[in-house]
Amino acid sequence: MEGTSLGSGGDKQLVCTLCGQPFLFTVGEQEFYRQRGFLHEPKKCKPCRDREKQSGNRKRSENPASQSFEVVCSTCQKTTRVPFRPIPGKPVYCRDCYLQIKRNQ
Ligand SMILES: [Zn+2]
Ligand SMILES: [Zn+2]
Repeated sequence: MEGTSLGSGGDKQLVCTLCGQPFLFTVGEQEFYRQRGFLHEPKKCKPCRDREKQSGNRKRSENPASQSFEVVCSTCQKTTRVPFRPIPGKPVYCRDCYLQIKRNQ
């Protein structure tokens, strides 16, 4: 299959570079690509593109905030979050109290 210019009319059959399956680059999609100014044909079939999109979303949702733990400050009883798992029986301090203690040391 030679000639990569868009708009030669008709659906085009392309081969996905990811899964090796043939897929259709329809006239509608070609039009869409042309409107967007894309000069190249898609290299991946739709299922593969969707899968990549999904895995991209999953990566983004894995933020470090999930690694923080809600604790109650031993000094002021304020609820706060710490980036480590609190040890039972050990005092935990909110940021303010922690800084206060550090300053008094
Ligand atoms: Zn594919
Ligand atoms: Zn506190």
